[in-house]
Amino acid sequence: MENNDRIIKFLAYEGKVNIVCANTTYLVETARKIHDLSPVATAAFGRTLTATAIMATNMKSLDNKLTVQVKGNGPLGEMLVTANCFPKLKGYVQNPIVDLPLNKNGKLDVGQAVGKNGYLNIIKDLGLGESYVGKVPLVTGEIAEDFTNYFAKSEQTPSVVALGVLVNSQGVKISGGYILSLMPDATEEDIQRIESNLKEIEPVSKMLDLGYSLEQIAKKVTDDENIKIIEENIIPVYECDCNKKRFERGLISLGKEELQKIIDEEEKIEIQCQFCNKKYEFTKQELINLQKNGEKNDI
Ligand SMILES: [Zn+2]
Repeated sequence: MENNDRIIKFLAYEGKVNIVCANTTYLVETARKIHDLSPVATAAFGRTLTATAIMATNMKSLDNKLTVQVKGNGPLGEMLVTANCFPKLKGYVQNPIVDLPLNKNGKLDVGQAVGKNGYLNIIKDLGLGESYVGKVPLVTGEIAEDFTNYFAKSEQTPSVVALGVLVNSQGVKISGGYILSLMPDATEEDIQRIESNLKEIEPVSKMLDLGYSLEQIAKKVTDDENIKIIEENIIPVYECDCNKKRFERGLISLGKEELQKIIDEEEKIEIQCQFCNKKYEFTKQELINLQKNGEKNDI
C-alpha cells in the first residue's frame, strides 16, 4: 500500500475557524496489521488514532505526550493511544478480534463495540511533571461524537469532529477525518453557515474515497473558498519505541520477592509489548542478574 498519509492545518473565515484535516489510511492499516484487528475494531481504533493524531499536532515540543483512553462497556474493552507532537503514535485495543453484525445503516457498529457507558480520558503531558487531564463520559461510543463532547465540556471549545474508516476484504480502504474548532471571535452567523453546510456534505470517508484532497475537504466542510494553509506535510506514523532495557526496568520494578517467584517457577519468560506485539525473552540467568541489579539500585 502506498503511504499518502497527511495532516494539514487550515484557517477559514479569516482566522475565526480552525480546521485540521487528516488522511490516516496507511497509519490505520499499519495498526490493523500489527494488532490483527477485526473490521469493527479497525474502525473504532482507526477513528481514535485519527483524532489523536490530529490533536497531537497541537503539541509544541518533543517531550510533550498525549494519551487518549476510550473505555466503554462494549466487547472491545479499553482502547489506548499515545502520541508525541511529530506525531508518532502507538496504542492497543483490549479485545482486537471482536466481531459484530453491521448496524441498521449497514455500517460497522463501532458504538456497540465500544459501548456507550464509559468514558473518554485525555491526558496531556506537557513535560516537567505538568499534565492536564480531561475526562468525560462517552456519548455514543462512536468516537467522533465523544471527542466533540470532550472539546465542548473539557476544553470549552465548540468543535465539529468527523472521523471515518472504510474497511474492505483487503484491510483499510480509506481512513481520515477532521476537527473543526471555532475561535472565540466566530460569529453566530458563521456558526449557522457552517452548521447548515455540514448537513449538505458527504461523510469524510466518502470524500476521501472519492479522491478529494485535504484542501478540497477543508473547503467543502467550511464552505469557504479562501481558506489558508497554516501547516502542511505533517505525516503521522505508527511506531513503537520499546526495547529490552525498558522491560528490564519493568521487571526490576516488580521487586525482589516477585522476581524470585518467577525465577523459582520459570526457566525463561517471554514478555510481549502491548503496543507493537514484539516479544522479548528473559532467561533464568538474566532474571537472576536483574534481581542483583535491582538490589544494587536499592542501596
Ligand atoms: Zn513495542
